[in-house]
Amino acid sequence: MEIAPPPVPSAGRRVVLDRPGVVAVRDADAAPPPGSGQALVRLRLGGICGSDLSAFRGTSPLVSYPRVLGHELLVDVARCPDRPDLEGRRAVVSPLLPCGACRACRRGRSNCCADLRVMGVHTDGGLAGATLVAASQLHAVPDGVSDETAVLAEPLTVAYHAVQRGAVDAGQVAVVLGAGAIGLLVARLLVGARGARVWATDVDPWRLQVAERMGAHPLPGDPAAMLRTLADATRGELADVVFEATGHPACTRLATDLVGHAGRIVLIGWNRGPTEVDTVALMRKEVDLLGSRNSVDAFPPVLRLLEGGLVDPGALITHRFPMEEAGAALRLLDAGGGRALKVLIGA
Ligand SMILES: [Zn+2]
Ligand SMILES: [Zn+2]
Repeated sequence: MEIAPPPVPSAGRRVVLDRPGVVAVRDADAAPPPGSGQALVRLRLGGICGSDLSAFRGTSPLVSYPRVLGHELLVDVARCPDRPDLEGRRAVVSPLLPCGACRACRRGRSNCCADLRVMGVHTDGGLAGATLVAASQLHAVPDGVSDETAVLAEPLTVAYHAVQRGAVDAGQVAVVLGAGAIGLLVARLLVGARGARVWATDVDPWRLQVAERMGAHPLPGDPAAMLRTLADATRGELADVVFEATGHPACTRLATDLVGHAGRIVLIGWNRGPTEVDTVALMRKEVDLLGSRNSVDAFPPVLRLLEGGLVDPGALITHRFPMEEAGAALRLLDAGGGRALKVLIGA
C-alpha cells in the first residue's frame, strides 16, 4: 500500500508587480521550512508607500521586475527555531538587508550600506501568505498596540531617523515641506517627541489640515508668502531645521531660503534626478545639508513611541484593501488627489 506524503502547507497568495502598471495576486510556491537564523512569517497587515508607487509607475531606479511588493510589514510569526518565544506573536519587520562589510556597515550606518538591498525593492517583499526572513529582522509588537498602529512602525522609523539627523532640540523651529505620510510622521515626532515648533506646507489643503491636527502650523503655498509667514513667526531668524519630504526640485531649492543661519536641511524626499540648490546660500548661512535614508536601530524606540500613543492611526490611514485587490490600491495612489494617505493591504 502506498502512503501519501503529507500535504505541503499552502504558502498562500502573494502580490507580484510583474512589470510597471501590472499587479498580479497569485499562489506562491510553498516556502521552505526556516533554517538556522530564519523565521517563517505570514502577512497580517502591510502598508503601501511612495516607493511602491514609484515601482508601480516604473520610475524607481532601484526596482527590478517581477517583484513581490511589501516593505511596511506587520506579520504573524509562524516558525522561528532560534527564537521560539516569537512564534505565535505579532512582529514588525525591518526590511533592510545590508551587506555588513562595507564602510557604512562597519561604522554602524547600515541604513546607507553601499550594497543595500531592501525587501520589496531589490528583493521580494512580504505582501504574501508566507515569507522567509532573518529572525534578526523581527521586532515583537507589544500587546497593547493595535494592528493599525503597529503597521506604521516602518514609515515611522524613516521619519525618526530623519529627525535624529536634524538633531532638533526643544523649542527650536522646524519646517516640514510635504505632508505625505513621511512628512506628517516627521511633524508628529517633532511636535510630540521633540518639543519643537513646527510649520508645514503641502500643495494639497486637505493634507495640510491633517498636519495641523498633528500640531503643525500651516505655511502658505506661495514661496514669497511662505518666507514672510515664517520670518514673522521667528523674528526673522527662520528655521533651525528644514525637512524636505516632497522630492520636488522646486521645494528642494526652497529649503535654502527657509533655513536660518547656522541651520540644517534634511533631505528625505527622493528627487527624480540630481537637483540644483543655492550653494551660495548654503555657504553664507553655513548650513549643514544632510541626506537621510532608511533608519538604523530605530524599531525599538519607535515601537515604544507607538505604544505611548504618539500617532493616531486614524489620522494617517485612509484606505484598506484585501490582498486580492492590491492592484486597486496602487491604482488609487497612482490616480492621486483622492484624499489617500496611508493605504493598507490586509491578509
Ligand atoms: Zn515605505
Ligand atoms: Zn554594507
